[in-house]
Amino acid sequence: MLHFDVMDGEFVPNFGISPPFIAAVRQITQVSFDVHIMVTHPLRYINALVAAGANLITFHIESADAPDEVISAIKAQGVKPGLALSPKTPISAVIPYLSDVDLILRMSVEPGFGGQAFQPNTLEKIAELRQIIQKLDLRLDISVDGGVTTEIAPLAIDQGATILVAGTAIFGSQQPETVIQQLRTGTT
Ligand code: ZN
Repeated sequence: MLHFDVMDGEFVPNFGISPPFIAAVRQITQVSFDVHIMVTHPLRYINALVAAGANLITFHIESADAPDEVISAIKAQGVKPGLALSPKTPISAVIPYLSDVDLILRMSVEPGFGGQAFQPNTLEKIAELRQIIQKLDLRLDISVDGGVTTEIAPLAIDQGATILVAGTAIFGSQQPETVIQQLRTGTT
């Protein structure tokens, strides 16, 4: 999947990728687009992101719009909804919505900037989330986003992560294809 970080300069103190950029990339690939929106009002952007080619839209539980309304708006467009949590947000915040989404994205750095170090206590949080999902007998992806390296990958996979988001690890490498393979298999 291609993961896009959309930022509004309000929810996070930075600007990120906009729908026209995503639409431009859609012209050259059919790969699945995992669009992570770090915005205060996710409802405003759903239509534009779907039109741009999003297959999955992940919004933050800390955003200002009602989560059930955002989830409904995403599903109404035939796109999969995901819910993201910033590092300080407890898992209990997303439990009411677990049966309505396809993915939980656990941020392992503060949202807004690339290149930050992975917060080690994220591993326990992934394990806790996996236990809750198993107890509820749900099929949900657990995505980990922020500071994921080839060293972190096997640890995160062991705890139950099923999707690893990597930017710096891949784009900062001389051998990006090798890094992707290592992340995929949890080897270094
Ligand atoms: Zn992201």
